[in-house]
Amino acid sequence: MIQRILVTGGAGFLGSHLCERLVDAGHDVICLDNFFTSQKSNVTHLLGKPNFELLRHDVTLPIFLEVDQIYNLACPAAPGHYQYNPIKTIKTSVMGAINLLGMAKRCGARILQASTSEVYGDPEVHPQVESYRGSVNPIGIRACYDEGKRVAETLFMDYHRSNSVDIRFVRIFNTYGPRMHPFDGRVVSNFIRQALGNEPITIFGQGEQTRSFCYRDDLVQGMMAMMNNETDFIGPANIGNPNEFTIRELAEQVINLSGSRSELIFQPLPSDDPTRRRPDIELAKDRLGWQPEIMLQEGLTRTIEWFRSIDLSEYRPPTPNYQ
Ligand code: NAD
Ligand code: UDP
Repeated sequence: MIQRILVTGGAGFLGSHLCERLVDAGHDVICLDNFFTSQKSNVTHLLGKPNFELLRHDVTLPIFLEVDQIYNLACPAAPGHYQYNPIKTIKTSVMGAINLLGMAKRCGARILQASTSEVYGDPEVHPQVESYRGSVNPIGIRACYDEGKRVAETLFMDYHRSNSVDIRFVRIFNTYGPRMHPFDGRVVSNFIRQALGNEPITIFGQGEQTRSFCYRDDLVQGMMAMMNNETDFIGPANIGNPNEFTIRELAEQVINLSGSRSELIFQPLPSDDPTRRRPDIELAKDRLGWQPEIMLQEGLTRTIEWFRSIDLSEYRPPTPNYQ
């Protein structure tokens, strides 16, 4: 059935891909964004479509729309950019959730929150299962993002329990792919940009910390499976790829796959940088029938190809906080 679907943060890396999928499926899609960490060029190819609409708006302010589904992705996701104005980051997660949950309540819409593996902080449980309550430093430099997302989860559950709002939430683990902002400052975009320019690859710390990288298409597929599951399973569900790599291994793969002459350089590790991260995805497999299909080598190859095709001068760094 054709639905009216709002995607907040819809011009971003994941949001623009989600909008594309929803428009192609024939839905009536409203993409809402303040373009803090994205730009219109991510969705210009959709602008001519009769079932696509683009709104410049900030989710910290209320807005009245009539919709059937809401995907709430609005929030800067890269550490450098979300730490640039940490108070705004918390407002985005918390006030954004309140405004959109209010909309969902008024319209009777289903609403999905793009939560994050950061709710587990620097985890003491490995791999991370949804029942683990996390280890977040509430006064650290990542707290504006981590605690903002944790409060958003709390608001989702409270609107569900108190007002019967139809919610879903997923915890997204590190995701990469084409259309990442080249000056986003996250590890995959930094390493590929640096490798293609034969510039030094900036490893923070010794590069022994781990992440588990999920390709964009797999992630969006998992998010849509969660939104459209008609069982009583509302989440949280970890969505990510459980194959774990050290950051040094990632750098070596990027150099090999891009044929780069870059060398590795080591810079100080930012505080509270999680040591190990890997999702347990048994719940998503079991309840959603979902699992990732694109492994790192293939995903990186596609992403490197996309980075080769873009003109960096057409991108404005969102803040000075990228390498
Ligand atoms: P992104 O930065 O490309 O997308 C976020 C979008 O939200 C951008 O278009 C940005 O301009 C917009 N935005 C930010 N603040 C806003 C505001 N106040 N009002 C309206 N729009 C606003 O990042 P992404 O990787 O596409 O992430 C999308 C969502 O997924 C985020 O909520 C992020 O926290 C979550 N997530 C992503 C990852 C990942 O690895 N990509 C991991 C965990 C969680
Ligand atoms: N990182 C790095 N060099 C960079 C950017 C990031 O070594 O140029 C490291 C960072 O310290 C972290 C990991 O890569 O350990 C992933 O960082 P990212 O910002 O992509 O996401 P995070 O999972 O930390 O939110």
